[in-house]
Amino acid sequence: MVYAFLLMMNEPIASDPARRTGDRGGVIAVTTDSDCLFCKIVAGDVPSEKVRDSERTYTFRDINPQAPTHVLVIPKDHHPDVGSLAASDPGLLGEVVRECAAVAADEKLDAGHRVVFNTGAGAGQTVFHVHAHVLGGRPMTWPPG
Ligand code: 5GP
Ligand code: ZN
Repeated sequence: MVYAFLLMMNEPIASDPARRTGDRGGVIAVTTDSDCLFCKIVAGDVPSEKVRDSERTYTFRDINPQAPTHVLVIPKDHHPDVGSLAASDPGLLGEVVRECAAVAADEKLDAGHRVVFNTGAGAGQTVFHVHAHVLGGRPMTWPPG
């Protein structure tokens, strides 16, 4: 019911002005953070190379690829990291992981691929909108460094 109400209202309702729930062409509402690079990519305000697009996820090529295939799968809703996404919307996390498998199949990463959620600055997370890195097309060594 709350969700339907958001669609009917067709305007921001978040109490924190930095966080908004906006309409996406009358189709779906997403929660965004006005300071977030990946929210801007979802909104189309920052350009990206689209790979896949589903109702609640978006997949695009990393600007600084570390492998022949290096894409980022993100939920369109803003969640800072994978743990917070798992806690607040586990179904959406499942969709993100399914998109990782789909892009690996699309890109024919038959020898295997790596899915990485850097979590926290100490682990290398630089964009605090949860994203799965999908890497493949070359041998993946372990430990990852
Ligand atoms: P993290 O370090 O947070 O795990 O990953 C962030 C990723 O986002 C990095 O691999 C970085 O190359 C990528 N990235 C940063 N800015 C942009 C951008 O503007 N466009 C795209 N496509 N990727 C970006
Ligand atoms: Zn965001």
